[in-house]
Amino acid sequence: MFLCQIETIAFLILEYHNCSLPIFSNFYDQTQTIRNFFRFFAVLKELDIDMAWFKRELKGIITTTEEKKDTPEGIWNKCPQCKKPLHYSEQVENQYVCHYCGFHLRIGSKEYFSVLFDDNEFTELFPDLVSGDPLHFEDTKKYTDRLIETQLKTGLKDAIRAAVGKINGQDLVIACMDFTFIGGSMGSVVGEKIARSIDYCIENKVPFLMISKSGGARMMEAAFSLMQMAKTSAKLALLSQAKIPYISLLTDPTTGGVTASYAMLGDINIAEPGALIGFAGPRVIKETIKKDLPKGFQTAEFVQEHGFLDFIVDRREMKEELSAFLKMIKN
Ligand SMILES: [Zn+2]
Repeated sequence: MFLCQIETIAFLILEYHNCSLPIFSNFYDQTQTIRNFFRFFAVLKELDIDMAWFKRELKGIITTTEEKKDTPEGIWNKCPQCKKPLHYSEQVENQYVCHYCGFHLRIGSKEYFSVLFDDNEFTELFPDLVSGDPLHFEDTKKYTDRLIETQLKTGLKDAIRAAVGKINGQDLVIACMDFTFIGGSMGSVVGEKIARSIDYCIENKVPFLMISKSGGARMMEAAFSLMQMAKTSAKLALLSQAKIPYISLLTDPTTGGVTASYAMLGDINIAEPGALIGFAGPRVIKETIKKDLPKGFQTAEFVQEHGFLDFIVDRREMKEELSAFLKMIKN
């Protein structure tokens, strides 16, 4: 039946061109070829022929995750809130905030440094600290393997980078967490870098800005992770004694042990709009208290309303706000 239809089409095309040569053999001219293809398809459509070789026979996407090809990252991004496409250059220009709906995209230390430091000039502090594996931890893979893999994938040494530079001409040390490194988990390197950054601030009388973005303590380091809460809190007490300002900036998400220690200990605690800020996750809380949680629970706005935050600042105004605050306390 199908062959008959093909023959009919071939006949129609040959007739159309008024020639007896084999089909397509006279289509050397490119334009003519394209035109003929369109006519060919039109004929197929008119005859209502099912063109199986152009049809997806299996429904749904069947490519396994391993087989999927990576697209170059960061050229186009879809805004997670309004789903509109954002070009990389637009994101950079707008400090990684969606210019349609104001959604603050999740960014890492590289981007925060570029947004805040004058001309993106800074000196990284303690860049070579790397995690050990004191517990010889192993889950689906060895912790040491996971570390190496993540380091290669992200180009980072651990979930935090610290740097000293200037913002609007004023000295500032910024320690910024990276969520892409094992969920921004707080292990011994995170704690140690914060502690050393604070020592640097005390020694050089430079204010300290901590940008938190974390899923909490790093379970692969268990108690060693939890000890970082006490260590960083003690160091911050020393910073306070030295009368050096500490600004804590909470970004999406700031949870677990990070919220329970240094993130909430700022002389001022600020957050980005819409950031998830909490200790335990909403599901755990809901199951524990057996009650529905209020709307907007654990958003920066909710947390501010309940007195845990001083300000919510749009990332596009962050640099100006921070430098105005630093200027104010300096004088
Ligand atoms: Zn958007």
